Amino acid sequence: MPPSDRSGAPDLSALYQDIILDHYRRPRNSGKLDTPDERITRKNPFCGDMIELQLTFDGDRVREARFTGQGCAISQASASMMTQLVEGKSVAELEQLAADFTRLVSEGKATGADPSLGELRAFSGVARLPNRHLCALLAWGALTEALLHHG
Ligand code: ZN
Repeated sequence: MPPSDRSGAPDLSALYQDIILDHYRRPRNSGKLDTPDERITRKNPFCGDMIELQLTFDGDRVREARFTGQGCAISQASASMMTQLVEGKSVAELEQLAADFTRLVSEGKATGADPSLGELRAFSGVARLPNRHLCALLAWGALTEALLHHG
């Protein structure tokens, strides 16, 4: 491992950094499903991040979400938080959530749907770190692809 800060989340506020590092160290919904309906792998070559997202559906609602991956804290924490939010939500609701989160990361602003973002607001500071945007959005790209494929 290089001595550079591969696990940290530099330049974020202390509170937000704590939330991100907590998810990085203890990822929620880490693992694989027995019979996933969708299985999407995404890589971020700029940072070496990798996510495999697995989902099962009931109709147009996500029933279960799991992920495996490796890479920086921002990429893995984003995937962990995302899997906590998707279960029980419809494809339309998740497309809106992905759009809101993408706006949060790219602009750092709260949106009208902001309360639904919950802990994801920890990523608002990433807006000031353009080279980390792909890290934060990696899992969400996988989700969007899974939703498109499922639909
Ligand atoms: Zn990264």
